Amino acid sequence: MLSRRSLRSWEMTRVASSRSRLDRNGYAPSILQQDECCFLCGRRDRKLDRHEPFGGPYRAKSKADGLWLLLCHYPCHEGPTGAHGSARVNNYLRAYAQGKAMEVFGWSMEEWREHYGKNYL
Ligand SMILES: [Zn+2]
Ligand SMILES: [Zn+2]
Repeated sequence: MLSRRSLRSWEMTRVASSRSRLDRNGYAPSILQQDECCFLCGRRDRKLDRHEPFGGPYRAKSKADGLWLLLCHYPCHEGPTGAHGSARVNNYLRAYAQGKAMEVFGWSMEEWREHYGKNYL
């Protein structure tokens, strides 16, 4: 388990380098998870999809800011109890991503709204 301090420096390193490290699909390294496993169930043995909690006009921005996570294709991503089928799960992921972004980027609520339009907390 990482200490709070080392977790923070890991995050800062990622953030500092993220803009220049977009992959060819426009993704910066995720600031929401470190492991190559499903964010919701932790499994690694299923097909993993990248999921952006903020869609529409904010999708590209989510990718570039590292606000994406890995979900197993089914059921955690596409299933009826997954991110796209369940409003509860979707809201949970958005709230988590917002909290993490405000912490990692040092944004106030006002700044968050300027970037992503709406408060999900
Ligand atoms: Zn899963
Ligand atoms: Zn998705």
